[in-house]
Amino acid sequence: MTERDEIERMLRSRLSELESRASALDDALAALGGLRDASTDDEHDPDGAPVSGEWSRLTGIRHEIEAEIAATNAALTRLAAGGYGVCARCGSPIAPARLAARPTATLCIACAELAGRRP
Ligand SMILES: [Zn+2]
Repeated sequence: MTERDEIERMLRSRLSELESRASALDDALAALGGLRDASTDDEHDPDGAPVSGEWSRLTGIRHEIEAEIAATNAALTRLAAGGYGVCARCGSPIAPARLAARPTATLCIACAELAGRRP
């Protein structure tokens, strides 16, 4: 089925893009970790706060990417099992426009709104 192959290819390319971003972030965090360790000798290091702010920011992004990777893997699993594009809550088909905008969506628009998530 061509459409399904298309979705799978899109999800896999999304996954590899997310994984390369995750690995770039890991490198950036490792570099920051090194900076942070090097600066622990000086309690009044003026660079301490910015590094720590950058650390929090990058860690936040890293967690978002991790969640996206998990969602994308789950979408691939659903695609293989035949449940892709079906609302996990009410069983209705998820609108193609919604899936195009958000390929990892597990809820239809109505259920997503009920669940308090933005489409
Ligand atoms: Zn639904």
